[in-house]
Amino acid sequence: MSTFLGMPDRPDRPGAPAVPTAPRGVGHLRGGEPFKMAARRALGDSQLRRNLGKATAHIRTKRAAAVAELPDWEELREAGRATKAEAMRHLDSYLEQLEAQVTARGGTVHWARDAAEANQVITGLVQATGSASAVKVKSMVTDEIGLNDALAAAGITAYETDLAELIVQLGHDKPSHFLVPAIHRNRAEIREIFLREMDDVDPALTDNPPALAEAARLHLRRMFLSARVGISGVNFAVAETGTLCVVESEGNGRMCLTLPQTLITVMGIEKVIPAWRDLGVFLQLLPRSSTAERMNPYTSLWTGVTPGDGPQEFHLVLLDNGRTAALADQTGRQALHCIRCSACLNVCPVYERVGGHAYGSVYPGPIGAVLSPLLTGVEDNASLPYASSLCGACYDACPVKIDIPSLLVYLRARHVEEAQRTHRLPRAEAVTMAAASWVMADPRRYAAAQRAGKSGRALSRGGRLRALPPPLSAWTRARDAPAPPAQTFRQWWRESGRERS
Ligand code: SF4
Repeated sequence: MSTFLGMPDRPDRPGAPAVPTAPRGVGHLRGGEPFKMAARRALGDSQLRRNLGKATAHIRTKRAAAVAELPDWEELREAGRATKAEAMRHLDSYLEQLEAQVTARGGTVHWARDAAEANQVITGLVQATGSASAVKVKSMVTDEIGLNDALAAAGITAYETDLAELIVQLGHDKPSHFLVPAIHRNRAEIREIFLREMDDVDPALTDNPPALAEAARLHLRRMFLSARVGISGVNFAVAETGTLCVVESEGNGRMCLTLPQTLITVMGIEKVIPAWRDLGVFLQLLPRSSTAERMNPYTSLWTGVTPGDGPQEFHLVLLDNGRTAALADQTGRQALHCIRCSACLNVCPVYERVGGHAYGSVYPGPIGAVLSPLLTGVEDNASLPYASSLCGACYDACPVKIDIPSLLVYLRARHVEEAQRTHRLPRAEAVTMAAASWVMADPRRYAAAQRAGKSGRALSRGGRLRALPPPLSAWTRARDAPAPPAQTFRQWWRESGRERS
């Protein structure tokens, strides 16, 4: 067998399903429709824009207040950044330490190179319990590998138990935000989904938020009490002790992590942190950045199996799925520092207008625009690094100081280089840049170009250029531009007599 993270493959513990040989697959990371086209359609949905604008503005205001309470916020950010950098630098050692600790405390660790392998391992584990269903804690990584679809193909029903994920699942929809997967839905739409999809709902249900929450609570309770298998992701994994940590707000996670006999946790390998003391930094950074809370209402921590208390069988599935390739990229690897707080989504002017679906990948927003191409290879999500105005708000908001704007520029450059390498005909950008370089290399050519540019004034109205001929129409289709001035800078310089002084 090949190697994983440069380390020898390890056999699973006796009795656990063997890791099968599977075709490579990246699950739901690969983009489909280019961002520009999906965004144009999203912009035409005024209800979606109203829902998003209202929700992101509310979260932004709350977060700013929660962060302002801490005088050492910048020091915490730096500590978070440094801890993540250290974890990535020695990722192989920390993962081996984590595996040893989890195993020593009664858990079983499985290694999955990609989505297909992870899905086969998890499906085999659920089938081994004899159960045809599982309850789930909200988890981006299980969305990434398309776990629910893989389980359904094997006749296993996965029930989402987070309220927003439940809304998404019942609505046959896709999440559009890390923390608020149903941010694109308003309460009237949620009521309509519940009435249509829930067998046990009161037909007189109103769209009052407490009534909607109570309907979901009653619906979910039956599942919690009968579930034999729980499936979760993980926020942090402490290598030093083998302790796993899940934070959440509703208590559904605590139910999934403690009530079933078997617990299966899926973890992207970048979630490991070196030591127990590091958790203190992230448990301050994450809640304030994500839900604007001082601490998460529910912080669940567990280490292996405790006899007579909680799940008696625990499996940890460690997932690569492109992460080692991202790690090997010295510039791009900082995207693996992400703690999925969603602060960058909430401050992004592009995300606020188009929502998460336009990104076409499980990870939306500014971090998705860099993480998805790094995990799949730039060509499979080539439009995403351009889904940004490079305003820099995401960098300012990020609790672990990921320099997303620089990563976006870096990935654009990689995409251009790749396109130049593989396309025989020069791309429009390359032709334009070559022409600009030729013009700017000679003062006379540059002055002639400026004089020619003035003729564009004839196309202006009210001091703005609103429609230009192709290929410049690509710019004016969605924006206008100031009309060229009546006088070039050189003319002004000459005529004002400064040239002689
Ligand atoms: S990139 Fe930073 S701000 Fe964005 S989700 Fe990740 S940790 Fe949060």
